[in-house]
Amino acid sequence: MRAEVLVVGGGAAGASISYLLARRGFKVVLVERKREIGRPHHCSGILGVKAIQEMVYFDEDWVLSEVRWASFRSPGGIELRVERDSPLAKVVDRSHMDRELVELASSEGAEVLTSTPFRGIEGGRAVVRGGEVDFEVLIGADGASSTVALSLGLKPLELELGVNVKVDRGPEGGYEVRVVKGSWFTWWQPWGDMGKRGGLAPVGEPLMSWIGVSGGAEGGLIPRRPRKVVVKGKVALLGDSAGQVKPISRGGVYFLSRASKSLAEAVESFLEGGSLKSYERWWRSVIRSEIMPALAFRSWLERLHERQIDKVFSYLKGYEDVLTERFDTDAQLEPAKGLGVNLFKFLSVNPRAFIGALWNLIARG
Ligand SMILES: Cc1cc2nc3c(=O)[nH]c(=O)nc-3n(C[C@H](O)[C@H](O)[C@H](O)COP(=O)(O)OP(=O)(O)OC[C@H]3O[C@@H](n4cnc5c(N)ncnc54)[C@H](O)[C@@H]3O)c2cc1C
Repeated sequence: MRAEVLVVGGGAAGASISYLLARRGFKVVLVERKREIGRPHHCSGILGVKAIQEMVYFDEDWVLSEVRWASFRSPGGIELRVERDSPLAKVVDRSHMDRELVELASSEGAEVLTSTPFRGIEGGRAVVRGGEVDFEVLIGADGASSTVALSLGLKPLELELGVNVKVDRGPEGGYEVRVVKGSWFTWWQPWGDMGKRGGLAPVGEPLMSWIGVSGGAEGGLIPRRPRKVVVKGKVALLGDSAGQVKPISRGGVYFLSRASKSLAEAVESFLEGGSLKSYERWWRSVIRSEIMPALAFRSWLERLHERQIDKVFSYLKGYEDVLTERFDTDAQLEPAKGLGVNLFKFLSVNPRAFIGALWNLIARG
């Protein structure tokens, strides 16, 4: 089999890039190891306003609930609440969304092969179940434990665990988050007529007892940091396989949607004799300007004791109006900018943690 562009993975990233490239007239083949696109799906489906605007396509039919308020509790129970008249986010059915994005790619001419795992690269060809594929560009959109990344000789990503459990009832019109420790948290959210309880923790933590449920969980692994190398020769990584997730909430749809557009341009230029490197340059500039500051904030949070996190929440209680005004589901450091010099008051709750986080930023930057 031959493809101008072989896309591995039929999640939101693989579907988005397949759609953009098929629409440009390229011969795209998408291989997905699962039998059915979008099933099972572990995602909470909370998409901020910017993420929705950035998506290659969005359909209101996917929306199960709207989110107009969000409540955040510290380990000791201090609450910060933001509320708006307009939606902060929408909750979508990710199975429905991923399936329709793949159908959209297919309607533009992409060939979609399910039950077709990618196994590796041999002699310059991709080995998939049932045969080999000749390709000009290969895109690894195969999630956090990417086989494509491993076949390029890249290190596995450091991963965290996220799980969701469907429950009879969700909060009305908003969601609740409880910080358990560091940057790890549980949540309760609406899911149409039902709700979901979920949590995020380092692998090995007793996450189910944090959430307070015993079974019925759907889970997935989440990359902890972005990859800086996302292009090697004629292979590029996209979405979770590239670590393209928001450092604080760990949501992936916002960055993968933006990245799909940058990669589509780079692939077009590559197929006309250029290189894919413009995509990697774009991604590194996002890491520098948006992701590193948020990673530094997270690293600071993870150095605080639970009581210090309570103290930060108590301080912030005096700035709930600023938080409400600036809250952004996708640009998660936005409220911090509104705090001005007061930010240093919060950061100094543990000066050593602040210095450690700064050092982390400089060392990894
Ligand atoms: C519990 C939880 C809640 C989350 N909630 C949110 C949220 O509310 N909002 C948000 O924006 N993000 C959320 N995320 C993150 C979001 O789900 C991911 O960032 C996003 O789905 C990544 O899309 P992707 O296409 O890169 O990867 P994936 O969705 O993982 O898709 C990868 C696809 O590749 C396929 N695949 C893997 N290996 C192979 C192979 N070898 N050959 C062929 N196919 C292969 C997989 O079967 C899969 O279909 C959540 C994650 C978790 C775990």
